[in-house]
Amino acid sequence: MSAENQQLVNVVIDGKAIQAPPSLSVIQALWHAGYPRVKGVGCLEGVCGSCRVLVRREGQEKVGMELGCQTLVEEGMQVLFLVFPNPTHHHYELGEIKNSWDVQAEFHRIFPEANSCRHCGGCYSACPKNINVELGVKLAGEGRFREAGELFVECIMCNLCMTGCPEAIAPNHVGLFARRVTAYFHARPSNLIHRLELLRKGELEVDCNSPGSQPDNAAN
Ligand code: SF4
Ligand code: SF4
Repeated sequence: MSAENQQLVNVVIDGKAIQAPPSLSVIQALWHAGYPRVKGVGCLEGVCGSCRVLVRREGQEKVGMELGCQTLVEEGMQVLFLVFPNPTHHHYELGEIKNSWDVQAEFHRIFPEANSCRHCGGCYSACPKNINVELGVKLAGEGRFREAGELFVECIMCNLCMTGCPEAIAPNHVGLFARRVTAYFHARPSNLIHRLELLRKGELEVDCNSPGSQPDNAAN
């Protein structure tokens, strides 16, 4: 059925009461009502993931975070666009990381706040792509960058996970780092890198006299 022939629904978007066919997304509904919204619509002004919206549906108390391009309008829906500047506080050059053995140490230097994750799930709750963001931060902290990066494949960098984080971690940038280093270094065994990093920090002791720890012992 074409949009013209559909029964219209009443929605409030950014305080504007409008009517629109239910087959339209929030952004399309605004256009349909004559509002040429561009600000906060990433595909029109730069970066996908910028059209994050707070949504409350009729009869529900819960307010959710969604994307204006994916959310279809419903009767009684209330919508508010979230517009805030993107953080740019993590600067690094992959070419300055000497080799893959140093990646985990570099990660903790670049993202020291990642160690403060309190596993509250705020990032996961905020993610409109249902990415297991919390797990991704944990895996990256353990040096398991390939696994962490795979979790963030569908990340659209909307920054909502960062907004929901009480520790000011930027999980999406953690995910981007994981994807970049995996591609850049074709990562070596993450468990080995992790153990070497623990040794470097003095958090893992080696008993050189334990069975199998010396080549001669191992041969016996
Ligand atoms: S991981 Fe974060 S930035 Fe990526 S889509 Fe989910 S909320 Fe948005
Ligand atoms: S919101 Fe922040 S502190 Fe909470 S689980 Fe996610 S990364 Fe950790």
